Amino acid sequence: MEIYQSPVSNSDYFGQNLGSASSPAKPLGIITDLAAAPITSGLRRSQKLSQAQKSNRQQNRRLAKKRHRILVEKVLTKEFLGEYLKAHPSWRRIVDCGKYAAFVKSKGENKAHQANITVFWNEEHERAHVGGLAMCANVKYCPECAPKIQARRGAEIVQAVDFAYKGEPLYYENGEVAYYGKGKLVGMLTLTHPHKRDDAMSFLVKAHSLALSKLKKVRWWQKTKKDMGVVGTITAFEDTWGEANGLHRHTHTLIFAEDTSKLDVERLRQEWIKACKRAGFTIDAETHKNMEQHGVDWVPCCHASDYLQKLGAGYWGLERELTAGAAKKARSVGKRYTPFELLDAGKYKIFQEYMLATADTVQLRWSKGLKAWAGIGEKTDKEIADEMQEHSEPVAVVRPDEWLQIRRKDLECVMLEVLEDCGVDGLKAWALGNGFNFYFVDKQSLHIDDSPPDG
Ligand SMILES: [Zn+2]
Repeated sequence: MEIYQSPVSNSDYFGQNLGSASSPAKPLGIITDLAAAPITSGLRRSQKLSQAQKSNRQQNRRLAKKRHRILVEKVLTKEFLGEYLKAHPSWRRIVDCGKYAAFVKSKGENKAHQANITVFWNEEHERAHVGGLAMCANVKYCPECAPKIQARRGAEIVQAVDFAYKGEPLYYENGEVAYYGKGKLVGMLTLTHPHKRDDAMSFLVKAHSLALSKLKKVRWWQKTKKDMGVVGTITAFEDTWGEANGLHRHTHTLIFAEDTSKLDVERLRQEWIKACKRAGFTIDAETHKNMEQHGVDWVPCCHASDYLQKLGAGYWGLERELTAGAAKKARSVGKRYTPFELLDAGKYKIFQEYMLATADTVQLRWSKGLKAWAGIGEKTDKEIADEMQEHSEPVAVVRPDEWLQIRRKDLECVMLEVLEDCGVDGLKAWALGNGFNFYFVDKQSLHIDDSPPDG
């Protein structure tokens, strides 16, 4: 086998960048005569995506980029990091997110090498993106990483709910799949706690977690779980902030069970109020009444469409509501902000307080064994962030110094939009016009080898 020695490291093409989670062992072939081949006339354009969808997505990318800039300049300031970086060293990575090439290790390599910063085209999603960068993978505070990771986490949730309703799959020899029909039910429980404007965020966050663990220990709850035949739970923590009432933290828990009708909601309301009291919340008569109305919400059989109806917004699906904290806009009742909207609104001090209060919390928690039950592999946020480029084709390699220039001039979004709107030829013209010397990977010279790997 002859391997062309190009300025592009081969291991990137054969190993890291093109490898996908579903087919890690599959060789991706060799690049032949990369430089000599003529440049093709651009990528295959498909018409799946409407112009409105495309521009919506481009706007979201610009917004994420803008928020990251604001976060770095106004929130993660020298003074703030100077004071808290020691306790939270991972926050440094948010500052440098997407700035430098990642260090990657290919199969059989002892030493990690620097990846190529590569512009990719994803045909399936008709999307351009940049790969080979060291991303921070912070799902709570990074405006760029959060939506991407949450989208993947959302897909996992949909997969689990789907699996629960359908039951165990049976695979036939002819490739068809049938289901046992021993499906489970999925209920959705929303728990909210009382809060006032002058409650410290750190208190609210701690007390909410404490109330949850107190509730879990109540004998009635333990027995109810047994009666319901609970297989597992997924809990998402969601926060909004409002001028009038401060931090509003609540949890949405999906309960996977044999029979969700066995939950006595009235009893649960009382137990939740008791748990909140024991966790340190002050509950006077008025708050008590309020909590009886709003503290607990239970949907015993939760399909995505049920949830859409519940929201009345006609937009957010079950999976979005559970994990789209980053993308979701707080409904405008009394103007509440999602965490990232705090950045848009210039509430930097509030965002700092929010980071400090929630630093040790998770955003999404699967009960032990549920992923395995639903046939979903365990992946860290970092692994998910690293895999973003799967199923994408490399289009051009960008030199690290050029990349820093692109970032400094705030040209990342423009560059990707040019590729999405005008194809490879457009990107070539754009690079030339801006004085960049990208290394273009010619599509026709990429020979995809489908034969099984040796040995
Ligand atoms: Zn990041």
